[in-house]
Amino acid sequence: MSDVKLWDFHGGIHPPERKALSNRTPIQPAPLPARLILPLGQHIGTPAEPIVAVGERVLKGQPIAAASGRVSAPLHAPTSGTVGFIGLQPYPHVSGMLAPAIVIDSDGLDEWTTLEPCADYRSLEPALLLERIRLAGISGLGGAGFPTAMKLTARPQEKIHTLIINGAECEPYITADDRLMRERAAELVVGIEILAWLIQPEQVLIGIEDNKPEAIAAMRTAIGERPFSLRVLPTKYPSGGEKQLVEILTGQQVPSGGLPADIGILCQNVGTCVAIHDAVLLGRPLISRIVTLTGEALARPMNVEALLGTPVSELLAFAGLDETRMDRLIMGGPMMGLTLPSLDAPLIKTSNCLLAPTRSELPPPPAALPCIRCGACADVCPASLLPQQLHFFTLGQGHEQLKTHNLFDCIECGACAYVCPSNLPLVQYYRAAKAEIRELEQKQHKAEHSRRRFELRQERLRKAEEQKEAERQARAEKAARAKAVEAESASVPHQEVLPANPAAGFSDLQKRLKIEASMAQVALKKAEKQLAAHVTAELEAQVAELRAAAEAAQKALAAATAAAPAGADAALKKAKIELAMKRAELKKAEKADADETELTRLREALAGAERNLHAAEEASDKPAPQLVRTNKRPLDEKLRALKTELAFARADLRKLERDEAADPPALESARTRLAEAERRLAEHQSE
Ligand code: SF4
Ligand code: SF4
Repeated sequence: MSDVKLWDFHGGIHPPERKALSNRTPIQPAPLPARLILPLGQHIGTPAEPIVAVGERVLKGQPIAAASGRVSAPLHAPTSGTVGFIGLQPYPHVSGMLAPAIVIDSDGLDEWTTLEPCADYRSLEPALLLERIRLAGISGLGGAGFPTAMKLTARPQEKIHTLIINGAECEPYITADDRLMRERAAELVVGIEILAWLIQPEQVLIGIEDNKPEAIAAMRTAIGERPFSLRVLPTKYPSGGEKQLVEILTGQQVPSGGLPADIGILCQNVGTCVAIHDAVLLGRPLISRIVTLTGEALARPMNVEALLGTPVSELLAFAGLDETRMDRLIMGGPMMGLTLPSLDAPLIKTSNCLLAPTRSELPPPPAALPCIRCGACADVCPASLLPQQLHFFTLGQGHEQLKTHNLFDCIECGACAYVCPSNLPLVQYYRAAKAEIRELEQKQHKAEHSRRRFELRQERLRKAEEQKEAERQARAEKAARAKAVEAESASVPHQEVLPANPAAGFSDLQKRLKIEASMAQVALKKAEKQLAAHVTAELEAQVAELRAAAEAAQKALAAATAAAPAGADAALKKAKIELAMKRAELKKAEKADADETELTRLREALAGAERNLHAAEEASDKPAPQLVRTNKRPLDEKLRALKTELAFARADLRKLERDEAADPPALESARTRLAEAERRLAEHQSE
């Protein structure tokens, strides 16, 4: 293997390895805890959803929470017992936060559920094989925690040509993978075979740092004649970083912001491969993991296989923790691990190490000083970033500059902080900035989503309002038309003059403009009233708008009227009205038995009105009205004389009655004359 070409990645450091502390003894089974705390979110993605209830008995390996989405993973009971609680529980995080979890009270029997082993995985369809891995709840055991089945589901455009198995385990102190490779190489190799069967890559490369000779030897033996290429890497931190390992083994660089899959490469951790073996061949879900218990505060540093959910306090006690000597507790290694504020947190799928150092072993960093721009951080950054620039931008919250300077390519390896002469806690700055940017982007995404929803709602409301307004206008126009027709017919007595065309008088255009003008006027008046009651800028603007609209409507009407074929329409109408009035006056006078002089005058006036109407009709384009005469008997001369006598008799009597000094016999005579005149007229009319 020595002639196999390897590449190097930029930067990197060589911190004290301290692996010998824990890698000398075989993996021990951790004691069965009385209570297990299973956080629902032990992986990258959406937390699982509980499928058991408090008080329910569960068996070891039984599903207790289902994956809730594409990027999610189910959870299984690590031992048999009873679900004691579902709710917030301690979670392994620097903040000491609580997180939703299922608590199982162990019954001490450790009784397995029924498993479904599969000796010949090649007999399974790839989809079924993948489903087994998915249902086993496996997520990356190297520390990232990405659901494995999801990672194996390559996007259609990706053809994975290289499968890389990560056995580098480059972080100081951690030896879980080392012991795993030494002791379970056979299962590990079968796990790799299953992956290779599933992915069908052109090559399988296994990378192990040269500080693990026993693991390398064990793996060589287990691989045997299989076409897997084991490559021994020079020890350098962080060669186990996914992108760094890809570069060491293939010479290819994963593009900024991208994944190895973007260049046809898939990486899996050795622990994950063993979990795949267990899931497929034995039917066992992921309920335990190998974890390194190390640090000088422990009497017996070692690796244990512990059930997920075991409180870290119990694991440390098993390794002989002397709390008086422990300076702090780190979950993970000294470079990338998280300092836990309490020992109550449980072991989860991504916990590869519990480090309990003494103060002299890992002294707390001295106080930070200002950056002196020495550039040492940039020299060691394996992602080829400019850590000092990133630090500068984090101080000023220059989110855009941070993104431009590829903050999200930072793997938080801590190499920059390790060499910084100013003791700047650079990784903490980067983590905080990443969290801030993610939160801000989430907020922006939410705000954008809300804005779009608001705009759509406004658009819906606007359309509904327009629809209502159109309907209201249609109703108003209809009512105005009906009113106009009614007014017109009232002005021309229909029993006398019937228009040949009922629509005659106004053209359709004029009618519409007239309605519009009157509606605009009404709207203006209403808005003016509102403005008088309550002055607002909005109402003022509305009134101004309506006034302009009303004036425009009035102008349009005036223009249409002027352009009408006969301002003549108005003259015709006037003549009709005049005729009707003269006719009405004459009728009234006849009824009142007016004297002949008056009747003659009115008859002449009526004849004049008729002449005017004919003239107006000729001047307009409208057809002549059909004049319908009522059948009236002509007045005869005797009747006229009798009526005249009656009128005179009545007038004389009224005159005498108004005169207080009138002679009574003269009054009596006048009454007799009137009575006689009435009698004679009645007699004549009854003939
Ligand atoms: S190593 Fe520290 S002091 Fe030097 S440039 Fe980087 S951040 Fe500044
Ligand atoms: S923590 Fe980030 S910036 Fe610092 S060396 Fe590692 S990758 Fe580079």
